[in-house]
Amino acid sequence: MSGVPYKIYLPESAAPRCWHNLRAVMAKMGCLPEPMLHPGTLKLCTKEDLAPVFCDKLIDQELNTTDEYIDIPEELVSFYRMYRPSPLVRAYCLEQRLGTPAAIYYKFEGNNTSGSHKLNSAAAQAFYAKEQGLAHLSTETGAGQWGTALSMACAYYGIDLEVFMVKISAEQKPYRKMVMETYGAKVTPSPSDTTESGRGILAKNPDTGGSLGCAISEAIETAVKKPGCKYVLGSVLDHVLMHQSVIGLETKAACDMYGIKPDIIIGCAGGGSNLGGLMSPFIADKLTGKNNMRFIAAEPASCPTLTRGKYAYDFGDTGRTTPLVKMYTLGCGFMPAPGHAGGLRYHGMSPVLSKLYHDGHIEARSYVQNEAFEAAVQFARCEGTLPAPESSHAIKCALDEALKCKETGEKKTIVFGLSGTGFFDMAAYGSYTGGGLTDYAPTDEDLQAGFDSLPVIK
Ligand SMILES: *Cc1c(COP(=O)(O)O)cnc(C)c1O
Repeated sequence: MSGVPYKIYLPESAAPRCWHNLRAVMAKMGCLPEPMLHPGTLKLCTKEDLAPVFCDKLIDQELNTTDEYIDIPEELVSFYRMYRPSPLVRAYCLEQRLGTPAAIYYKFEGNNTSGSHKLNSAAAQAFYAKEQGLAHLSTETGAGQWGTALSMACAYYGIDLEVFMVKISAEQKPYRKMVMETYGAKVTPSPSDTTESGRGILAKNPDTGGSLGCAISEAIETAVKKPGCKYVLGSVLDHVLMHQSVIGLETKAACDMYGIKPDIIIGCAGGGSNLGGLMSPFIADKLTGKNNMRFIAAEPASCPTLTRGKYAYDFGDTGRTTPLVKMYTLGCGFMPAPGHAGGLRYHGMSPVLSKLYHDGHIEARSYVQNEAFEAAVQFARCEGTLPAPESSHAIKCALDEALKCKETGEKKTIVFGLSGTGFFDMAAYGSYTGGGLTDYAPTDEDLQAGFDSLPVIK
């Protein structure tokens, strides 16, 4: 065994004081994603266009293409200290069990009550809302992790929160709802009859289990109609990826401390925020010619945004109200099947990740539920930690890469993001161990129906 400990905890003094803004690097290298467009005029989206919906500081961050590092406010540094730095773990037991010459590391983000990386951006967004003097926030949540994280952050900063929770998740995960309510949030299953967009979706599709796209429409409508209320989003947008760069900056500092040089970085991708955050400083070095690492996004076969989607301008929501974003997408009308990795059931993908994928800087793989859960259980039984179903896709990908090394004898260093804990997903594990999980992948016709909903841009 080498001299690397099982767990690397950075000392607080080495914790990041700035976020990493990958867009500034992409701008410098001439590979910035296409800008957001106003859905009515098709002109560039300005700060004024976004102000009715989003907090001011977050819009500035979203549009910032010049500053590679942005200071984390002092109060937020303190909030982060409650649960960060998160450990970078060397999976010695897993390596032995696999008999692979590869070194496997994972960055575990599930050690806070929300159970995932989402708290990194929730804390930042609630902080800026408070600074702006807002009394209310609205948001959507799929699997419930984002809603829980934001409930925690809003409780801390004294902000009222309404969460539109995808109906199928609210039914599958009643405890998630209870945690949010414990932290003081109001939780509404979506689609609901409390908004125009919700009523519209229900009229067309009364039995739908909902989707993130629907819930986003309801949350935005609520923010726009209610005075002193703004909308916040837990993934996809550039400022969210930037907040999540604390994951990557900590990982890089930990690697530098022990001379670890990753060859492959892997993360699951729903909207792209945990992977985007983990790889941010590493892919910046790749873009500027300082390393030759590989980056892999792992997604569910049931919602194959990168592997089977189109790179096109699309809406972020089903109600077609958001700015148009150039991204990999299955079409804003795509209704993903009700799989258990709820956090990965989104039709679109971060524009930053989409652009990097389109330009060939990152790879993508998709996995069906059963193979992801099989990997999760294998991992849990030798590393101890029970992974979130979303994270299991990254594990499956890491196992595959480690087994390739076993064949070739290559001693690669693999780092993957273990984005969350599976404690709230026991019903899903129950279905898996009981043999009741079905694998589903949309047919080309299903996908075509989604693509038909793409806006036509002249
Ligand atoms: C939300 C979530 C994801 C997917 O979101 P990204 O923005 O792609 O990171 C992945 N894992 C967990 C545990 C989540 O809660």
